[in-house]
Amino acid sequence: MTKTDGKSEAKASTPKNKHQTLTSPPRSNKRGRPRKADVLAREAALLKAQNEKTKDAENNTETAESEQKQEGKRRRKYTKKAHKKLDISARVFFNNRLSANEADTQRFIPQDEDCERFDEARKAMGEDIGENQAADGSTPSTPSGVSAGIGYQVKKIRIGSFEIDSWYISPYPDEYSRHPLLYICEFCLKYMKSEFTYQRHCQKCALRHPPGDEIYRDSNISVFEVDGRKNKVYCQNLCLIGKMFLDTKTLYYDVEPFLFYILCEYDNGGYHFAGYYSKEKRSAQGYNLSCIMILPSKQREGYGKLLIEFSYLLSKKEGVPGSPEKPLSDFGLLSYRSYWRRSIYEILLEQGVDRISIEDISVRTGMTVDDVISTLQTDGMLQRLPYGLGGYQLVVDVEKTKEYLSTAREKNPKRIDPTKLMWTPFLMKRPVALEGDVNGSAGIAGNSNGLTDGQKEDLDDEAALLSDLSV
Ligand SMILES: [Zn+2]
Repeated sequence: MTKTDGKSEAKASTPKNKHQTLTSPPRSNKRGRPRKADVLAREAALLKAQNEKTKDAENNTETAESEQKQEGKRRRKYTKKAHKKLDISARVFFNNRLSANEADTQRFIPQDEDCERFDEARKAMGEDIGENQAADGSTPSTPSGVSAGIGYQVKKIRIGSFEIDSWYISPYPDEYSRHPLLYICEFCLKYMKSEFTYQRHCQKCALRHPPGDEIYRDSNISVFEVDGRKNKVYCQNLCLIGKMFLDTKTLYYDVEPFLFYILCEYDNGGYHFAGYYSKEKRSAQGYNLSCIMILPSKQREGYGKLLIEFSYLLSKKEGVPGSPEKPLSDFGLLSYRSYWRRSIYEILLEQGVDRISIEDISVRTGMTVDDVISTLQTDGMLQRLPYGLGGYQLVVDVEKTKEYLSTAREKNPKRIDPTKLMWTPFLMKRPVALEGDVNGSAGIAGNSNGLTDGQKEDLDDEAALLSDLSV
């Protein structure tokens, strides 16, 4: 005891020990105490019989000291382990504020296994992107110059008896876009992910024609007028199909201000969807067509020009010259140029060049004056008169014109027969609705006696549309 005390006193009196005590008092105390406690414990055991109070005190001290001793042992053992594991001093953990475990940063260093997993994931990602780009840019049926973004794309659709490759990305919901093949009901245009669901739908779907009014029928060709407000879901689905084959189309969900004209082929199975075009109910710029799309499986049958001719027939019926929405796509411009040329040539040959003006051509074709002049200029048929006379003159090579028309008729024998149109212009009823809005209900009430329920419903729709537009 005396020896031990003397040693510890001597140690404590040296500057080194003093420094240790000052810099790390807890460790120094813990180192000293257990040894002192052992001696005290032995003393307590010898003096046990002599002094019970001392014994109790020593017992308590022994318990506390033994706990500290065990803790010190554990810490030393752990420090040794950590030291061995990390190969660093046990004293550098932020001045003992962190345990060795907390200070251990090695577990955050990526291991070989982590690196391999990362490389695999990066490789898989690269392959996905590569596949998408390849699919977007090099699909055989895709027109040249297509630039599509990275993303999920429906690569094929099955509609009716046709399986068709898509050309552009259409914004179908993600869960549908992930499926390379989408099944579409050709009557209600509902899209489905699996063939099983599609077959079940076909058995239950009661629709055999577009959900609108059949306004034109000639032989096996019919055109239906569908209101975007009355059949919103159908028209949205229609636009999603359209986007797959149109690069510039941006209309998907806001279909209410539009009317859709659906071209169908009729057989015993029903009216099969072939193409469509959309038209604003009220166009400030006088557009008579917004978007036009013919299914690739039905292209090269003259349906595009048939629908263009149909749009001009409606313009003529409305008494307002119309024009397609600009800008036109490359294919659209080619189709329109061809249609305009044929229409103007027919009028010129029928009427005679000497007795017709550009305004006459505009009225008889339903085309705007600008489109008429543009076509005539492109074909070199509008020539400036010599200086001093002023103005322009029409110069027509009759033989060439006849030749062009005969070739065009051979290529596209399908024409619209105006007598088979059963249609009331949408905008002609608008002044009635306007009067009603402006002068109370007098306008509508004054004209509503002769209206059918359907026409009254249309008037309600127009009133709603006008209120939408006024907002
Ligand atoms: Zn259906």
